[in-house]
Formats: sequence, structure tokens, C-alpha cells
Amino acid sequence: MSIEGQIAGIVFGLIFGMIIPRLPLLFFTRFLNLERGLSPHPDPIPVDVPLVQRMLLIRRIHMMGWVLAAFPLLLSIAIMRTSPEPFALGMFAGVIWFILSRLIPVNIQSGVGIMPMKLVRQVNNLRQPDPPCCNRPRPQWEVRKVRCRYCRTVILNKPRPDMGRIRSDGRLLGLFRILLMDGRSLYKSEEEE
Ligand SMILES: [Zn+2]
Repeated sequence: MSIEGQIAGIVFGLIFGMIIPRLPLLFFTRFLNLERGLSPHPDPIPVDVPLVQRMLLIRRIHMMGWVLAAFPLLLSIAIMRTSPEPFALGMFAGVIWFILSRLIPVNIQSGVGIMPMKLVRQVNNLRQPDPPCCNRPRPQWEVRKVRCRYCRTVILNKPRPDMGRIRSDGRLLGLFRILLMDGRSLYKSEEEE
């Protein structure tokens, strides 16, 4: 095989290995109608039962990515055991990159993964802020933090991960953003800075 052919094989394998584990996230969050119950992107989402349910759903979708990652991982290992195919090598690297990007937490205290259970519980507890920020507490998740809609008190200093709403920047751009960021927020929470 020519050098060009080998490089093309590695690149195709890499793209394949990177996209397969992210398929559930790309598919379910972009093309299914998940719009019901939540305000349209990028509006703030009121902290209430629909938000908590959506967080659990997104968590499940991220888990499905792990199941799908096993397929290119095992396939590439099986191929490489018999012959060093460039495509298998690229695919292996792509899956390993997916695994590392998920396992290495941005901040160890906030839990592993993009939608850790700890975060879901934290947000669930905010439905009734204690102590209340004002006499009409109405927490809502903005892009960078959870704030009360009325008194603007910061209730939780965490940026909002992707909630599977169709993004205001359009389907295609939203798709690329999800592929690159895995649904993480572009912003860091201030406690990490
Ligand atoms: Zn308030």
C-alpha cells in the first residue's frame, strides 16, 4: 500500500473511531424532537422537574456512547492482531481519544463524565433553594450559572452543559460543536479558574 493510502486509512479510521461513540449524542440530541418541556436554546432553563428529567436522559445518552465505543475498540484490536492495518490503527486511536476525553475530569470534585450524577442531584436540590434567595425564588440555569430570575442571586456557579435542545447556531454548526466539545459547556465554572 502507498504512503498516501496508508495515511488516508489512518485518517478514515480516526474519524470512524471518533464518531461512532458519539452517535447517540449527535442523533438523539439533534434530530429527535426533544424540544418539549424546555425553553428553546439558548434561553435559560427553569430549575424544575423537566430539567432534572432531561439531565437524566442526557446522562443515559452519554452512557450509550460507552456501549457503542466497544464496537470500534474490539474491531480495531481484532484487526491489528492479524495485520497492522492503518484503518484499524486510526480507529483504535479515535476510540482511545474518546475514552480519555470522558475519563479525565475537568475538575475532580464535580465528578467524572459530562453529566455526573452529583450534578443532577445538586440541580434537583435547587428546586427549592434553602435558604431562599428572595420571597419568590425562581432559579433558572443560564449559560454560565444558575441564578434566580427575580433577584439575580447566583445559586449555583456552574456552566450549563448541552441539554439536547436544537442549538440557536443551527443544526450543522451545533453538530460540530457537539463533536468537538462532547456537550460540555465552553465556559469554565468560576470555582475552577
Ligand atoms: Zn431570588
